[in-house]
Amino acid sequence: MNLIQHFIDGKVFTGSSDRKGKIFNPATGKQESAVLLGSKSDLDLAVEKAKIAFGTWSNVPAIQRARIIFKFKELIEKNSDELTKLIVSEHGKVYEDAKGSLTRGLEVVEFACGIPQMLKGEFTENVGTNIDSWSTRQPLGVCAGITPFNFPAMVPMWMFPMAIACGNTFVLKPSEKDPSCAMKLAHLFKEAGLPDGVFNIVNGDKEVVDAILQNKDIPAVSFVGSTPIAKYIYENAAKNEKRVQALGGAKNHCVVMPDCDLDQAVNGLMGAAYGSAGERCMAQSVAVAVGNIGDDLVDQISKKVESLKVGPGMDKTSEMGPLVTKEHLERVKGYVDLGVKEGAKLVVDGRDIKLQGYENGYYIGGCLFDYVTKDMRIYKEEIFGPVLSVVRVNNFDEALQLINDHEFGNGTSIYTRDGDAGRTFANKIKVGMVGINIPIPVPVAYHSFGGWKRSLFGDQHMHGPEGVRFYTKLKTITSRWPSGVRSNPEFIMPVMK
Ligand code: NAD
Repeated sequence: MNLIQHFIDGKVFTGSSDRKGKIFNPATGKQESAVLLGSKSDLDLAVEKAKIAFGTWSNVPAIQRARIIFKFKELIEKNSDELTKLIVSEHGKVYEDAKGSLTRGLEVVEFACGIPQMLKGEFTENVGTNIDSWSTRQPLGVCAGITPFNFPAMVPMWMFPMAIACGNTFVLKPSEKDPSCAMKLAHLFKEAGLPDGVFNIVNGDKEVVDAILQNKDIPAVSFVGSTPIAKYIYENAAKNEKRVQALGGAKNHCVVMPDCDLDQAVNGLMGAAYGSAGERCMAQSVAVAVGNIGDDLVDQISKKVESLKVGPGMDKTSEMGPLVTKEHLERVKGYVDLGVKEGAKLVVDGRDIKLQGYENGYYIGGCLFDYVTKDMRIYKEEIFGPVLSVVRVNNFDEALQLINDHEFGNGTSIYTRDGDAGRTFANKIKVGMVGINIPIPVPVAYHSFGGWKRSLFGDQHMHGPEGVRFYTKLKTITSRWPSGVRSNPEFIMPVMK
């Protein structure tokens, strides 16, 4: 059986713990690998090596760092088929979707190639007579990233290419459910010329996470995962005096206005609710039907959900793959049972799907609920599966209020032909990423990604300009070169003259 180890100081490393996690292929339900679950001493060793590497890497000119990152970009492109297959085999999503997610990660690497421009700083000549002032951004040290199962390439790539481009070194703790893609990326980065110790991976679970939170030599932690763990990371990282960004869960609403192009809205919703089997933090899991559009919306969407082609991710004809684990499948099915108990109308029931030849895979068909109300748990909680809830409201204002009252605020979108409705929605909605006639408004790499409310704890979003700010600290220098005239001491607050 394939054993996934750690990657420390440029080498595969066995570590001190023999605890192991099992990794299954969700399409077949077969265990294909095991992953070492690291210990505190493994993490501390990785940080020690990363700290030594920081001394040199932080002084490498940004343009030279960018050249290595450019080679890394080329190697990702060259190896994209292998990387994509690793995602499919451990996560389960369909091949083209997995490739798309890798490409969105690659775009961050492309953005990081322009790091000299981002680190240029600001300069003002003569802030006072013969006094100049400039601001520069300097790297922090050893940064750490803790990532979820649902984007095994893209989410780590929101973090480490940006941190490393800025001159930091990095320790990644990937999801223990699908760590192979991150390991392959580490090997490719080394092949691109990255010095040993700059990028390290310690596989594991809570033990490694807690070791990250306690390690005094880590000044910054980036986290993406569920809200309870995001809150835990935020509180404990801050308690240990670390800078922290912790992105959490979501319940994304798509508002369908009566004047919209319904075909477009239905097609958008199908991809956004059922793509990647709903295991996306930007999945649209609530359709808000405004006014009289509810019946037509449910009628059109239900036909498409019934004909969704569910199958293994490597089958080119599959539109939706299995869920990540057996436990997660049971959890999602449990939510569908709950919705029925809570009184929502289950229009399409995907619970009993059986696939010939894949009887042990973790499959569920698309599920569609109508007449969901805001007091139901299936409305309030994140299900993270292919389950779409339709909530009916009377008008635009009710839709706005509904979304603004929800505890999560990751992404949202509106389908309308009315520019005023679209603009007011974008202006008034309390959500971090907004789409207007766009189903999944994931910002591109040179903007930044992040939600509001309990979808993000911390101040800065990920990648793009926010990523540069998170992974650097600002230093402002004010200088004067006296030309022989010595000034007397001044005891009043200096004002530039
Ligand atoms: P998770 O919170 O279970 O795990 C995330 C990471 O935290 C993993 O590396 C895991 O090993 C670690 N972890 C888990 N339990 C822990 C504990 N008790 N103590 C310390 N560390 C722990 O999340 P997941 O199931 O891997 O991913 C799905 C979740 O991630 C969903 O809630 C989804 O919305 C969210 N997500 C959010 C975004 C975003 O940008 N907001 C993006 C992707 C995923």
